[in-house]
Amino acid sequence: MQKPTDLQPIRGSMGATDLGPRNLLLDQQNPDVFLPPATDIGSIPNLKFSFGMAHNRLEDGGWAREVTVRELPAATTMAGVNMKLDSGVVRELHWHKEAEWAYILQGQVRLTVVDQDRCVWVDDLGPGDLWFVPAGIPHSIQGLEGGTEFLLVFDDGNFSENETLLITEFMAHMPPEVIAKNFGISAAHFANIPKSEKYIFRMPVPEPLETVRAQLPAAPPKYPYTWHGSSKQPQPYPGGTAKVIDAGDFPATAMAALVMDIEPGGMRELHWHPDADEWQFYMTGQARMTVFDATAKARTFNYNPGDVGFVPRTLGHYIENIGDTVLKVVNVFNTPRYQDVSLNNWMALTPPALIRGHLNLDDTAMKALRLERSTIVR
Ligand code: MN
Ligand code: MN
Repeated sequence: MQKPTDLQPIRGSMGATDLGPRNLLLDQQNPDVFLPPATDIGSIPNLKFSFGMAHNRLEDGGWAREVTVRELPAATTMAGVNMKLDSGVVRELHWHKEAEWAYILQGQVRLTVVDQDRCVWVDDLGPGDLWFVPAGIPHSIQGLEGGTEFLLVFDDGNFSENETLLITEFMAHMPPEVIAKNFGISAAHFANIPKSEKYIFRMPVPEPLETVRAQLPAAPPKYPYTWHGSSKQPQPYPGGTAKVIDAGDFPATAMAALVMDIEPGGMRELHWHPDADEWQFYMTGQARMTVFDATAKARTFNYNPGDVGFVPRTLGHYIENIGDTVLKVVNVFNTPRYQDVSLNNWMALTPPALIRGHLNLDDTAMKALRLERSTIVR
């Protein structure tokens, strides 16, 4: 990597040295922002925010931080949460107005769900596994031995992790005689319920999954709310691998994902998504992405581990690995089925004379057009 002081906003005769003050570490992390490609133009909104700049809510045995429309105003349709729960630590029983999609990053975790049909689903998950909980369906999350860290994505940018409907608060804010009547016993039996939320709190590591399942009715939902995505093999491409995780494998989900490992020098090819916004979480490596919109607008961003990116639906983009390690990124979409349109495939499937008439391409360029799917190139 360039030394930050070597990086100057100069391109040929354009630009001039920056004498400071400068935030050198930010310049170093965002070389294509400080010194944009000559092709960048116009007023694309900001499409990057880092969890490293999001308020972290520290609780007993865990933490949670969020990137919502308040942090990333262009992302009106999706929000994300990064959460850590140590061994046994519980994210309280709750529900919310939004649907919740989850991807496990580290460790082992247990999800507990009860739905409107009184179906019960309890499952243990590890890195690369997922869950999907529809809006309004109650659930809780618990760290298993060694703890867990995971990513949550919600289908509304206005979501806040701090404004979910909690079991403690529901019961604390109902008149005691109503609570007593509801359960058919005296109010004295509810004298010790908490007066405010527990949210994230310590409990012992729970009993083994099979023991807990045996305590509950065997009433699984038609489509399980979890999916062990870690067992699906990714599709190899010349510049890396990609794994689609959508309702095709995981029928309960209303949100799709593409998990990619892009090798140094590799690139997620030029494309767009006809039916969905794209919410990105970068896990390893260093990336750049340019987003194109009408008319003649383009802006380039850099991403590092822990950063969030966003691409509004139908806007053209690529993701390039500009580092010397594997770039691992998950793209989450607010649609049940993954869809994209490849620039290369579009051109290859259009009458050649029409393409030549638009773009003045030579024979070599015409031969480079690919009929087959080419998600990641190098
Ligand atoms: Mn939730
Ligand atoms: Mn995309």
